[in-house]
Amino acid sequence: MTAIDLSLRPNSKLPLLTSIYPLIDTHTHFDAPVFDEDRGLQARQAYEYGVRHLVLVGYLARHFDRLYTIQQAFAQPLQSTMINSTTSITDASVHTDLYPQTHIALGLHPFYIEQHTDTHLEQLAQLLDEQQPLAIGEIGLDAFTNIMKQPEMLAKQQRFFNAQLDMAVRHQLPVMLHIRKAHAEALALLKAHTYNAHKLGGIAHSFSGGEQEAKAFVKLGFKLGVTGQVTNPNAKKLRRAIQAAVEMYGIECLVIETDCPDMTPIMCQTSAGSQSALGQSIDNEWQGAAGHNRNVPGNLPWVLHTLGELLHVAPADLARQLWQNSCDALQVTWAYPEPSVTIE
Ligand SMILES: [Zn+2]
Repeated sequence: MTAIDLSLRPNSKLPLLTSIYPLIDTHTHFDAPVFDEDRGLQARQAYEYGVRHLVLVGYLARHFDRLYTIQQAFAQPLQSTMINSTTSITDASVHTDLYPQTHIALGLHPFYIEQHTDTHLEQLAQLLDEQQPLAIGEIGLDAFTNIMKQPEMLAKQQRFFNAQLDMAVRHQLPVMLHIRKAHAEALALLKAHTYNAHKLGGIAHSFSGGEQEAKAFVKLGFKLGVTGQVTNPNAKKLRRAIQAAVEMYGIECLVIETDCPDMTPIMCQTSAGSQSALGQSIDNEWQGAAGHNRNVPGNLPWVLHTLGELLHVAPADLARQLWQNSCDALQVTWAYPEPSVTIE
């Protein structure tokens, strides 16, 4: 039994976590500049809170290098005094075994469709040949804003979505879906494509649809990615959709994620206001999310605990199943570390 420094609690208003369970953060933007000042500290806190693996998810071709820079920084303990891509921090006490293992997904995010070019698709195809990332993502359709809803925008999104699904099939990789306000269109496109999530895995990340849509994605073989949004009691549609999918398919259909720096669990928020910088402006790549509500990988246990309450499943059982679900969705065989750390 290892005691944990309670000062590591990300927010002193949080109730105490009494037990720590091994977790996989299936979707993060932990490479975002908003973490440059304290990425090493945040990674170590995430480890203290049970996070053993985290996935860095791509969104713009020009930042693909950054994903690898961050991953390498965590993989090289002797050089880990530099854990960010632009500025260095000094922390002599860091060791690589105290960080979650980082993995990379590469993809061109539908929200940034105006910025993507065919050259970026070629770049992605080449990187897939050279690097063998864990997954392709995030990809999909986003009709959140009026601009995004325009037919030519949606058509370009569909073309890039299809092209990246083709790459997933070619490389036999799972995909991370970003679908917002376009669930029916995305489902139709997926049904018409040869990508088979039952075989290749895949996650409908930060799932935001209704009951029928939740069931439809699971039926296609995708896991539903649950974020800190579930901790909001007012997110009734989302909570019902999760319950409905679980009633039909069991808790095997879920994975959890922070989607940090977005989607901060409600108990970790210290100020009101928009949680998400994504959607505010296409130029704002989360730099603006630095305020008090920045989400961090160490907040993932709150998603676990809230989901356990919602589904009436003990957190220990849920954590173990979510680990397996994440491995299934990502087509990996990471051994489940027995939970051994308890806060006294
Ligand atoms: Zn994302």
